Amino acid sequence: MATQTPLTILKIGGSVITDRKGERPRLRGRRLARIAREIAEGRRPGESRLIIIHGAGSFGHPIVQRTGIHRGVRDGPQRIAMGETQKLQNELSTHVARHLLRVGVPAFLCQPSASAIMENGNLVSMDTEALEGLLGTGLVPVLNGVPAYDRVQGCSILSGDQIAGYLYSRLGGTRILHGTDVKGIYTADPSQDPKASFCTTLDLGPSAGLPEGVTGSSVTDVTGGMRKKLEEMRAARARGRVFDATMQGNVRRALQGETVGTGIECS
Ligand code: ADP
Repeated sequence: MATQTPLTILKIGGSVITDRKGERPRLRGRRLARIAREIAEGRRPGESRLIIIHGAGSFGHPIVQRTGIHRGVRDGPQRIAMGETQKLQNELSTHVARHLLRVGVPAFLCQPSASAIMENGNLVSMDTEALEGLLGTGLVPVLNGVPAYDRVQGCSILSGDQIAGYLYSRLGGTRILHGTDVKGIYTADPSQDPKASFCTTLDLGPSAGLPEGVTGSSVTDVTGGMRKKLEEMRAARARGRVFDATMQGNVRRALQGETVGTGIECS
């Protein structure tokens, strides 16, 4: 098995593949189809292994916010909400896999909450042996942000960003590519501050603090937005990029190693 082959972890934000504005789950099907084609063009089977992770967007954040299951599950309605949230994630993942398979990417859905153990919202462990085996077999595992079992509170949300950092550490990742709905990292949230300036590179090394202007998301968000993304990358000492996956061609460019968005280093 080619365990030394470079490993790219591509995270596609829920804000990219769903319409985050409304309360209802809404897929951005055409955009997802384009991104699937770009993944098919940009990936390098044989030369590099690929894991795809996607966020929940409007399939997850509104229901979680409404029912409070990210803070735990205590009663019957919350138990139904936890199951309903998981079911919605399976539906979204099925759309992702369908689009990828259609363009020849051997996508294989892996349901993270089948083995993830959380503690107060932190991911403690998740089985990865099957994932490594699947990568060795030439498949492209597809994982997603989900509600998961939490030892302390029964349920918490395991975000795609947490999974990306965890897999980078556990499997010895080469880079995390965060496809999101902004050009990259700015000195402040560009949707709130028109004077925010763009950072071409960002060092998340131990001596460099996270810029204060990196915050959550401006829409309904239960997983911490851009700040949490960078905290997870920093904890994993991950290199990679944060780039705009809503822009045509960027997913392919990022996969092919081109300079898109903000380059992240952890010196
Ligand atoms: P995704 O759904 O793609 O994972 P998130 O909504 O979690 O994305 O995070 C992306 C959002 O983070 C952006 O839309 C932006 O509003 C917000 N954000 C906050 N601070 C910053 C910053 N300093 N630079 C860029 N984006 C930021």
